[in-house]
Amino acid sequence: MIFRTIRVNLTSGTVTEEPFDQLEHGYHGGRGLVADFMTKEVNPKCDPLGPDNKIIFCTGYFSGTRVPASNRLSIGGKSPLTGLIKESNSGGTMARRMTDHKIKQIIIEGQSDTWKYLYIDKEGNAHLKDAVSFMGLNTYDVCDLARKKYDDRVAVATIGQAGENKSNIASIMCSEMKTGYPCRAAARGGMGAVMGSKKLKCVIIEHSDDPFIYKCPTPEMQAEFDELNKTITGAIFANPLTGQTMPLYGSAAGVDTTGAMGALPWNNFNGKFTPGWERLGTVEWRKNLIEHGGHSTIACQPSCTVRCSNEYCDRKGNYLSAGIEYETVALCGSNIGVFDTDIVCTLDRLCDDYGQDTIDTGCALGVAMDYGVMRFGDAETAIAHVRHMYSEDATDFEKALRNGCASVADFLGVPEKEIKKVPVSKRQAFAAYDPRIIRGYGLSWERGPMGADHTQGSAATYLAQMTPEQQTDASLAATCTCDCFMCLFPWSAVNFNPNARPAIMRMAALLSGKDENPGAQGVEANGMPILMAEYAWNEKAGWTHDMDMFYGGKGNYMYHVGHEGARGAAFRSVQDGPLPPPPAPPAAPEKKD
Ligand code: SF4
Repeated sequence: MIFRTIRVNLTSGTVTEEPFDQLEHGYHGGRGLVADFMTKEVNPKCDPLGPDNKIIFCTGYFSGTRVPASNRLSIGGKSPLTGLIKESNSGGTMARRMTDHKIKQIIIEGQSDTWKYLYIDKEGNAHLKDAVSFMGLNTYDVCDLARKKYDDRVAVATIGQAGENKSNIASIMCSEMKTGYPCRAAARGGMGAVMGSKKLKCVIIEHSDDPFIYKCPTPEMQAEFDELNKTITGAIFANPLTGQTMPLYGSAAGVDTTGAMGALPWNNFNGKFTPGWERLGTVEWRKNLIEHGGHSTIACQPSCTVRCSNEYCDRKGNYLSAGIEYETVALCGSNIGVFDTDIVCTLDRLCDDYGQDTIDTGCALGVAMDYGVMRFGDAETAIAHVRHMYSEDATDFEKALRNGCASVADFLGVPEKEIKKVPVSKRQAFAAYDPRIIRGYGLSWERGPMGADHTQGSAATYLAQMTPEQQTDASLAATCTCDCFMCLFPWSAVNFNPNARPAIMRMAALLSGKDENPGAQGVEANGMPILMAEYAWNEKAGWTHDMDMFYGGKGNYMYHVGHEGARGAAFRSVQDGPLPPPPAPPAAPEKKD
């Protein structure tokens, strides 16, 4: 067996090792391994913040190969936010470092009395250590200290004050490849709170002087694998989004598409098509990024050909934040009436440093503004609340803000009010796509097993052109294919390419030494059992159908009275008449990095 599982028991303070057999898991990696693990090891009735919940860190199926963007990290467990199964994934170097040492999974169980961190040395040996020197630090300082203590090449996954305080929306922040900044986030569903509940501050992995390269069992199979990989790489380069737009603008380019079609969240998902989105659009974004001395076209992990990451500096040229995504630009921007990229990136940096989900924070601020805590566009007050929320004298509102959008709604008494307008599903805040326009995404969030998570069922913007029936199919197809093979962005180019789809499944077979050809439909055949396992787990955890309804269901508050959810014709566009086609990718600017 090539790979191994590291098992850390924080109650007993022990670290043990088991062989990992990929053949027992088919072509599952990432989300699929999380589902396998949860089914086998985690009691669905457990307290998410109690000793019986567990966390798994695992790598994607192709991690360690030359498949583009395949070094994706998945982190799973029972979510304290939704009370359901959770897989939260991140870029950065952690997955590649795990594979360097032939580690497929790190399983963390029990609960410690004192704070610890997990350190894996250059030989791949795991040690549980006293974390006293890391305590109270936010994520940037944790990474700085880890680099000073060990080596510049360490991979770090850490919690900040959000995780230490068991915030329901605490993320686990992972270091990026070039800078080592903790700007890649397993942000959704509060996995940072689970890590905090166990008193595990961070995981640090050293580089290996002899890193493992994952290859097929025979040279013939490897030769075919390498040839097919050209089809995968070609599909990613040929796709206008992953080949041209994202390298220049990152995922923030999504503002141009959703803004033009009226799906960009605006003033707490006001549901109106509003001119002026260009102030956060690609032209303005890139102008500010370059003029302030920032950079684009950065790969967050080894082997990524898309290189969508970025580093943003403020107007004085000082580094502000990195890895800024569309979701943050929209939800900490237009959704709170803010159109200044410096302010968006200030909120992004604060959230990254605390280790807190920017999506849930942006939606929470939007609800607070809608219900009179502050006015839309009042960036100064919004930043002051976010900056102050982990202080000892934090206000009750700020304590609610730590726990996200649904908690702020509870605090403000919104569900009891006549107008319900809180964008959450299963208590998790909507990602930055108005589901009244991009209905397929709405359906994924409404019916999916993980709440309004943008990485599940990524039914992207073009779906606005489809009929409700087509959107239903696309939502299901996307829901059951995500996160086993590579980062979601290049996966969108592979998943919808008629040559790349069968190629990736043949490559999956070759890597496991199987001479079979699952074909294009193998993607669904692989993904559907994962989805079914997640639903089955949720059912045992107490999930019921009414949790799936946006409007009126348990843990769901949605929009204005009369809204009937994302199911079919009742779900109307906010625009009159047919929707415009998505805009062509913007032309490359003359000025280059
Ligand atoms: S596409 Fe972007 S987020 Fe995905 S692996 Fe590449 S750089 Fe990271």
